[in-house]
Amino acid sequence: MKFDVIIIGAGAAGLFCAIQAGKRGRQVLILEHNAQVGRKIIVSGGGRCNFTNISAQAENFISRNPHFCKSALARYRPQNFVELVKKYRIEFYEKKLGQLFCRGSSGQIVEMLVEECRRAKVQIRLNCSVKEVKKLNETLLSQTANKSRQDAGVRFEVETDQGKFICESLVIATGGLSIPQLGATDFGYRIARQFGLKIVETRAALVPLVFQNSFPAKFKSLAGVSLEAAVSTGNTTFCENILFTHRGLSGPAILQISSYLKRGEKISLDLLPTKNIFEILQNSKESRKELSNFLGEILPQRFASVFCETMVASKPLKIYSEKELKAIAEKVHAWQIGFDETEGNRKAEVTLGGVSTDELSSKTMEAKRVKNLYFIGEVVDVTGWLGGYNFQWAWSSGFAAGEFV
Ligand SMILES: Cc1cc2nc3c(=O)[nH]c(=O)nc-3n(C[C@H](O)[C@H](O)[C@H](O)COP(=O)(O)OP(=O)(O)OC[C@H]3O[C@@H](n4cnc5c(N)ncnc54)[C@H](O)[C@@H]3O)c2cc1C
Repeated sequence: MKFDVIIIGAGAAGLFCAIQAGKRGRQVLILEHNAQVGRKIIVSGGGRCNFTNISAQAENFISRNPHFCKSALARYRPQNFVELVKKYRIEFYEKKLGQLFCRGSSGQIVEMLVEECRRAKVQIRLNCSVKEVKKLNETLLSQTANKSRQDAGVRFEVETDQGKFICESLVIATGGLSIPQLGATDFGYRIARQFGLKIVETRAALVPLVFQNSFPAKFKSLAGVSLEAAVSTGNTTFCENILFTHRGLSGPAILQISSYLKRGEKISLDLLPTKNIFEILQNSKESRKELSNFLGEILPQRFASVFCETMVASKPLKIYSEKELKAIAEKVHAWQIGFDETEGNRKAEVTLGGVSTDELSSKTMEAKRVKNLYFIGEVVDVTGWLGGYNFQWAWSSGFAAGEFV
């Protein structure tokens, strides 16, 4: 069966690309190996889908080429998606920092995308496994053209367990590697390699960090405790909540920094980013209060107890020398923690790296060296921060390709 456009992957980017291409009158088929579309959208944002960030711009994305995403983001902006959401009367709210969430459930976003696909006459095949993708070479093309005039101009053949499909434009929208249970595969990277395209090394990002074995085990008893902190590595700092888990650290600030943390590097935690603890301690120098109780008034008490027990010891404040107070302040404002590993793809929200942007047109997402082959969404080496940026990239890159396929 012949289509103008075949899109592999019915996630955020694939569905959005299909809608744009379908609206242009292109005959579009989406192939999805899951039994339903948009499974990641369903689980996203704790079930409420943080579908965009109103202030999304290139600075919020990580890529070998930080300029690559600019063109697509400028042509399909967060406001454009918000207008679509409003058209469908989906209620939403800004949680914080420009992050827009559904008031109801993420299912509403999936329903909206499916309805848009229906209106654009997009066909979707579910439970469909792709076995092989072939670019028809000139000889095959002319043979095909001889066989049927209708097939002239066909570029790709996609063999699946539901039969063979042929198309002019092939779009790879199979996402990254995070959460294999939701259908994530390395398919997109394999196709890129098959066609000789470079891949920027991939790794789990927006992912919880696991304490090193040498890290005091006592901290594991703090699972569930959260506090606001400024978390840094190199020149990058995120100031948001951190959350202790049974194995290490999570929470927004940790997820954000995980995308920047290189192997062997430590993070620096400022546990009281808006205060000067040295000054506070000095002003209370005559107090008989134990340090852990004193800190427990400005930090969660359970955390303060474990922190003092393992890092600085606790005694009445008046006993500390100035040098000791300085050392405590150093620990509170610049606590250095190393991690050997992350929780990996099982718990990551996204994959860093992917199909190199050197290989793609930033205007159309088409591979520069393979005509009519497109890569969109997370499979590309463009990774957003936490906070709705990754969906915005899926919509924007899907839209960019959808205008050209
Ligand atoms: C738990 C979780 C919560 C998240 N929450 C948010 C959030 O609130 N806001 C935000 O911006 N981002 C969020 N993200 C990130 C966001 O979901 C992704 O960046 C986004 O879905 C990427 O879109 P995509 O279309 O490129 O890939 P995906 O949405 O992953 O879609 C890829 C599709 O391709 C299919 N596929 C894969 N391999 C094959 C194959 N071989 N054959 C056929 N089909 C295949 C998959 O089944 C899937 O349907 C979250 C991610 C996770 C894991």
